[in-house]
Amino acid sequence: MSATAQGDDAAVAIATRVAQVRAHVAATARSHGRDPGEVAIVAVAKTHPPEALRAAVAAGLRDLGENQVQELVAKRPHVDGAVWGAVWHLVGPLQRNKVAQVAGTGVLVHTLDRRSLADALSRRARERGELQRVLVQVNVAGDPAKHGCSLAEAGELVTYARGLPSLRVEGMMTIPPLPAPGEDPDGSARPHFAALRALRDEVRSQHPEVVHLSMGMSADVDAAIAEGATLVRLGTAVFGERGDGPWRGDGR
Ligand SMILES: *Cc1c(COP(=O)(O)O)cnc(C)c1O
Repeated sequence: MSATAQGDDAAVAIATRVAQVRAHVAATARSHGRDPGEVAIVAVAKTHPPEALRAAVAAGLRDLGENQVQELVAKRPHVDGAVWGAVWHLVGPLQRNKVAQVAGTGVLVHTLDRRSLADALSRRARERGELQRVLVQVNVAGDPAKHGCSLAEAGELVTYARGLPSLRVEGMMTIPPLPAPGEDPDGSARPHFAALRALRDEVRSQHPEVVHLSMGMSADVDAAIAEGATLVRLGTAVFGERGDGPWRGDGR
């Protein structure tokens, strides 16, 4: 089979999955009395080539997520140059030395978890004359091996970040611990999602722009929607199984 025919097959498979995922997310939202329009799907594309992202946009998704800056920056020109209207999300950790590559470039950063990163993002965005949109990542479980600020620190970090000239805090994000073997992922994640929602509600009562709840991946999206997710981060459900490593644009 030619490379083009393979690409067409992949695009058809993605279009099919996108339709299924959108229907599932909408039905789940309705079953919890929510407006499906409140829940956006962020298609998390790590390891997949730009063709796959273009197929997801062509199939009607708008929000594209990467968990590594390098991968986002490598793919972005191949997507933005070919399809219109994609919105980029960084859903993985951001190191200070990579801040300049994203700040002020229209990427919604889901992973603000410390003051020094807020300072660096704001400074770089300001140099570009742009506003940097962020979500505060919260380590609800308090797992020391994981990224994110603690539940107790989150309110203070939001207040700090709001005080910086070029940051706009639009919500909160969390990644729950992996379920134990045999445990139901929705059941194990749900209390973490509920805790993030309660925190968001509290912060939002003082800062009305803090609206988003980025929570839910392919295995626990139902619990996330039940608890009020506005951004669900779906990789496997949209693109299928992941490849071996990041896409670097070097012919892989
Ligand atoms: C990869 C990734 C996802 C998507 O995971 P799936 O289980 O494939 O849906 C969501 N969020 C983050 C932070 C990720 O790195």
